[in-house]
Amino acid sequence: MKYVENVINLSKERNSAEPEFLQTIEEVLQSLKPVMDKHPEYKEYCILERLIEPERQLIFRVPWTDDKGQIHVNRGYRIQFSSAIGPYKGGLRFHPSVNLSIIKFLGFEQIFKNSLTGLSIGGGKGGSDFDPKGRSDSEIMRFCQSFMTELYRHLGDSVDVPAGDIGVGGREIGYLFGQYKRIRNDFEAGVLTGKGLKFGGSLARTEATGYGLVYFVREMLQANNESFKGKTVVISGSGNVAIYACKKAQEYGANVVAMCDSSGYIYDPKGIKIETVQKIKEVERKRISEYVKYHPEAEYVENQRNIWNLKCDIALPCATQNDINLNDAKKLIENGCFAIGEGANMPCTNEAVDYFLENNVLLAPSKAANAGGVATSALEMAQNSMRMPWSFEEVDNKLDAIMVNIFKESSKAAEEYGLSGNYVAGANIAGFKKVADAMLSQGL
Ligand code: GLU
Repeated sequence: MKYVENVINLSKERNSAEPEFLQTIEEVLQSLKPVMDKHPEYKEYCILERLIEPERQLIFRVPWTDDKGQIHVNRGYRIQFSSAIGPYKGGLRFHPSVNLSIIKFLGFEQIFKNSLTGLSIGGGKGGSDFDPKGRSDSEIMRFCQSFMTELYRHLGDSVDVPAGDIGVGGREIGYLFGQYKRIRNDFEAGVLTGKGLKFGGSLARTEATGYGLVYFVREMLQANNESFKGKTVVISGSGNVAIYACKKAQEYGANVVAMCDSSGYIYDPKGIKIETVQKIKEVERKRISEYVKYHPEAEYVENQRNIWNLKCDIALPCATQNDINLNDAKKLIENGCFAIGEGANMPCTNEAVDYFLENNVLLAPSKAANAGGVATSALEMAQNSMRMPWSFEEVDNKLDAIMVNIFKESSKAAEEYGLSGNYVAGANIAGFKKVADAMLSQGL
């Protein structure tokens, strides 16, 4: 389809220095070809040309002082990508690798993910190249305050609602919210999600991305006469998504044998003791290598990339983008892996995705499978508007129902276009159509 190729080329010309962004553009647009054939109105109204260009891109200076009194200057970003179906919504990532390409790729993915939740949230993403590793609590606070001192003017509970992502958890959201409230003199609870429970946060938000991932994969397995029970699972990462994915997978009877951080992986063939990982990562904020001190029967291996050499039935990449390349994909299949659940955003390269699909591996794509986090953020916003909290069970049940529905919608869209079982294309198509139709209705 010439139209799709032309728009991909247009994006390549404009964004030649943005490899991650071009990667997601290529992946999403290629899968939309059959939709464009069936719906000439999308081409007529330049939906793709409009969709690939963010509505607004903000880049700003973030000056802050460390504990020794030394001044640092970081770069802050917020990409307000699409407000077609709701206020911009998406996390903030604080990590030294952050640049415009990464924030734009994340923002673009967020459009489709948020649409799939069935809730009224548009797509956005932000962050900074600030490295929180080794920083004290007060340094983190000062950085967050400086970041918000610029960002606040671009936010609002019906304008743009950030949340956490890598390097931004409950502590950071607290500092960001405090600064927003101070400047605005307004307790606008719904302006940030992932807040502490005592000031408008939602129960089950912390667990939501990991639990949601496992709910989605459960549906995918069930549709293919499989289940988690008795399966060997490898999970990359040891942050919030990985931890709760591990807990839920274990609850469903899986044996999770490995997890990792950016320096290495732990292998515990009798099953990861997740409380130990939580203690090391959430309380002590230390490296995962500490695990073997508590469990000497487990093994620590320094190169975390080799985690994909391990034998498993199901792999849940929950660390970061491009974690699984073509070689890793080949090794995983050789070792018997038959299902992948993407907990991180775009954890498989496009070549790995194609290889998995060609080899009939069940692939739960991140835009669908990790949507539970942002879906629960939208549930937090709903509770904030009502000024009424829901119980853990209520939120968790809603999350489960949302994930079941996302699986159904992705599956149905794939079938409709003759791509049965290709949940990657199905999720892209289902997420896209809602946004495209909203754009058509709203005019240029
Ligand atoms: N950072 C998460 C994501 O990638 C959550 C975003 C949110 O809750 O707004 O979807």
